[in-house]
Order: sequence, then C-alpha cells, then structure tokens
Amino acid sequence: MAEQTLRGLPASPGVAVGPVWPFPVDVRSPAARPVESVDEERRRLRAASDAAVADLEELLASGDERLTDDDLAIFEAHRMIVEDPELAQRVEREIAGGESAEAAWTSGIEAYVEILESLDNETLRARAADVRDVGRRVLRHLSGAPARLDQPGEPSIVVAEDLTPSDTIDLDPDRVLGFATQRGGPTSHASILARRMGVPAVVGLGKQLGGVAAGAQVILDGAEGTLVVAPDVATAEAARSRREHWLRARGAAAEMARAGTPRTRDEVAVEVAANVGSLADAEQAAASGADGIGLLRTEFLYMGRDTAPDEDELTGVLRRIIDAAGGGLVVVRTLDVGGDKPHPFLPMTEEANPFLGVRGIRLSRAHPTMLETQVAAVLRAAAGARLGIMFPMVATVDEVVWARGVVDEAASRLAPEHRPSELQVGIMVEVPSAALLADRLAPEMDFFSIGTNDLAQYTLAADRTNPAVAAMADGLHPAVLRLIGMVAAAGNRHGIWVGVCGELAADVAAVPLLIGLGVRELSVNPISVPEIKLEVTRWDSEEAASLAEQALALGSGDEVRELVAGHRGESGDG
Ligand code: PEP
Ligand code: MG
Repeated sequence: MAEQTLRGLPASPGVAVGPVWPFPVDVRSPAARPVESVDEERRRLRAASDAAVADLEELLASGDERLTDDDLAIFEAHRMIVEDPELAQRVEREIAGGESAEAAWTSGIEAYVEILESLDNETLRARAADVRDVGRRVLRHLSGAPARLDQPGEPSIVVAEDLTPSDTIDLDPDRVLGFATQRGGPTSHASILARRMGVPAVVGLGKQLGGVAAGAQVILDGAEGTLVVAPDVATAEAARSRREHWLRARGAAAEMARAGTPRTRDEVAVEVAANVGSLADAEQAAASGADGIGLLRTEFLYMGRDTAPDEDELTGVLRRIIDAAGGGLVVVRTLDVGGDKPHPFLPMTEEANPFLGVRGIRLSRAHPTMLETQVAAVLRAAAGARLGIMFPMVATVDEVVWARGVVDEAASRLAPEHRPSELQVGIMVEVPSAALLADRLAPEMDFFSIGTNDLAQYTLAADRTNPAVAAMADGLHPAVLRLIGMVAAAGNRHGIWVGVCGELAADVAAVPLLIGLGVRELSVNPISVPEIKLEVTRWDSEEAASLAEQALALGSGDEVRELVAGHRGESGDG
C-alpha cells in the first residue's frame, strides 16, 4: 500500500510511530437481546446503573493525579446523570412497556441528548457528550463487558470515532503512543487530557480514518495534525528521529518546569512566559513549565457572537484561565479587534486601510463602556492573583494616560480583598511611534511588551496578511531590532520590565539578540516554552550584547540570521 497522509486538527503535540489499534466498540446492539421479563430487565438495569455509579465513585476517590478539579467535576456530573430521576422515569416507562433494558436505556439517553443539543446555551449543549459517555458506560455493564476496556497488547496508536473523557482516562498510558479520532476538536475534553498526559493526538480526521486497517503502521504528528498511513522506510525513519527529538525536549521541559525561570550563563534571569488564547492553551502553558502568561489574547471571548459578553460571563472564563496559570503573572490584553478583525456586536465602518484604522485601543476609546466592562471583569477574575493589564495598538501618550485612568477607576471601585494581589498596567509596543516615544511613555507604565508581529509590519510597511509582502515584515530586520533596542533601553532606564510577545520571541535565532538588547521576558506559544528556556541558558548576556550590537549595524534580516548562525555554530552546542 502506498504512503498516504490524512489531515486533521492538531490536539496534543508530539510524534508517535506504531501500529493502529482500533478502539473497541464493545456495546452490543440493544435490539439483539430478547426480553425475559419486565422484572428481570428492571433488575439488570439497576445492577448496571449501580455498577456505573461504583466505577465513577472509584474514579472520584482514586486520587489519580492526572485529574484536576475540573475533571473531577465532570465525573461528578456523570454520576448525577446516571441517577437523574427524569431519565429513570422515562426508562422505567419503556421497560414497563416491554422493552429490553438496553433498548429502554438507549432511547432514554438519546432523548436526553436530543433535548440538550436543541438548547441555545453552548455549555449545556456540550453536556450532550457527557450524557452519551454515561450512556455507554451503563450499556457496557449491561452487555457484561468488563468495566475496564481491553487495552492494546503492544504500544499502539489508538484510533477511534471519538473518545469520551472516560475512554481517555481508561487508556493505559504505557501502551498508548498516541490517539487519532474522526470527531472532536482541540478543545474537547479528550484533547485537554491528552495534552496533560503528554500523549500526542490528532482529532477531527473525519470518515477517512475509518478506512485505516487494524495493525497498519502509521505516523501520528500531534503538532501538525497529520496521520501518515503505511509510511515508506525513509519517512518512518525521519519520524522516529523526530520522536526522539520530541522525547528529549519533553524531558528538558519537565526539568525546566521544575527549575523555574531560566538564567543566562552569567545568571541574568529571563522569564519565559506563554501566549494563550483559551483555557486549553493556559493548561498547556502550565504543563510546559511557562513562568506565567505574557499575553492573554481575549478576542476568543468575543468571537462568533452577536452581543458582547457581560461582566459575569467574562469574569467566570478569565478566572479559570488565571487559576490554570498556576500563580505566575498573567498579562491580559484588552480586546484587540477592529480593522481586519470583525466585531459583529459593534457598528463597523468600511475602512480602506483596516490596519491603519480603528483597531485595538482606538476602538476601545470609541466604545469605552465595553472596555470598562472588560477591565472590571479582568480585575474581579484576578482577585488575589498577580495581574498585568495591557493595551494593544497604542500610538500616542494621551492614549496611555486615558487607559491607565480606566484601570485606576475600576480598581478603586473594588474592596481591597477583591483586588489582585499585584496589579501592573502596561502597553503593547507595536506601533513605531510608541517605540520612538518609549522614554516618554515609560514613566506612565509598569511594563512594555513588544508586539513584533505588528511592529515589523508597520516599520517595514508590509502587510503581515498579504503573501506578496508578508516576508518583508521580518522581526529580525535591523530596523525592527533598533526599535526594540530603544524600547528596552528606555524601559531599563525607568526601571520597568520589557518583554517581547510577538512570534520573534519563539525564534531561537532571536533569543541572544533580544537578551543582548535588554529584553528580560519572552512570551511564546506554549509548545515553544521548553526550547526557548533551554536557549536562554546557552548564552552569556555580555556576549549577547555584543552580538546584538553587531546585528544593529547590518542591512537585512538575512544578514542578521547569518551572523547568529555563525555564532551559535561557534558556541558549539547550538
Ligand atoms: C504582535 O503584534 O506581535 C502581537 C503579539 O499581537 P497580535 O499578533 O495578536 O496582533
Ligand atoms: Mg499585535
């Protein structure tokens, strides 16, 4: 069979190579069983429900360290579903009408799922998957299958239509190299568990996955979201070496997570935080050993809806993210929509140059109530935690003064016990005017976080979304590095910290240059945290400063790359 690549969605990073093990569909068809007597069906159903409750109670009491409080709440909810009186009444009616326990239970569960799926409330709709999960658990007991599923006989890649939280937690981590599912998304519970367990996973592969035979050799790449079936020898060899690399990096990650903030060889601390845009990202950041959250993009809270979320809803979601971050500083960026990013809940005017239009803080100033609501929610969500609030797209001094006023005003309305334990107010430096005015802005701020994605596009006048010119928006271009140097120098002079949260921070070639220019925080995607921490420890800050000085004198990003590559080669371990 020729090599074939199936594409799905990346759910949990890592590479796995091995045979396919189809997840057992062990539930007997309800119609296949004849009914003995109504009493006997009642007795069987009760026994199966009791056994399901006993499983769940055992899981809840197990102290399994892979389970967080949120997971426990899910399994607690499962227990309540098994014992739901309305469900029980419906199933009882069916049994009394002559149905088998299996048929009665299946139709009760289907009706329950149908009601939940028809609701307007997204959280309740998501509960349908839990009801299905509980349905299967009871059916499994009814069918006489062992409570614990069969496990693969050798280390394998589990392939399933979908995996419920119960299925995922039941899998033996020693024999599961990774998993691939037809359905599910990166934020489904099985994906979150996979990330926490460090098991590579690809989800949403669709029906094509059903055609992959048991025992077929596959390569699963959880970062790319691909499954290569029947790889040729060279592809399999390359995948094995990528797996080795990943396992080593994961080992380093565990070490780094324990070690905390990395230091350069001459003991300069450089925090490596994470950029996150969801609760799942925040969990992944904590698992990767991030020193906090350097950029929480809040846009996801507002996308795909007709009305802006209210303060309570925002507070609830943000609190969970702050809790997941596990105690480090969490820097929340206020809403950065407008221009190119649509916002259906606000009036929007057509703009000829959206990147130069009403976006970020400009939009917030045009609609202050929305910003006030967001800031109030962020402050409430961070009660007792370490919080940074930062504003995007700042171009002028008066914007900064106004923004600080909004935060001070909201904070003054909170009782001291409801305030964050620490509150810092800062800005994204991503417009050249803000970089050029850094020494004028620094006295008003507690920190600067440099957004090199936008800073590069505005500095080089190259739209980052236009494929014809996007490569010109190069964060390593000396013009951008000079601006970063100005911002870091101004920040250091005024005693405020300066970080970089654009993609440049996750580029190993940029790490020595940024350290050399005086940047002391790098905020990167959660997957890159270990690699960037490791890179920090390879450099000496003086050596980095002299390298940065040489880079500033060059004429292009490519020349800068060459300079760093030569130097990393010389250092021997790059
Ligand atoms: C940036 O511009 O570098 C940045 C981090 O913000 P975003 O990519 O969200 O515009
Ligand atoms: Mg930006």
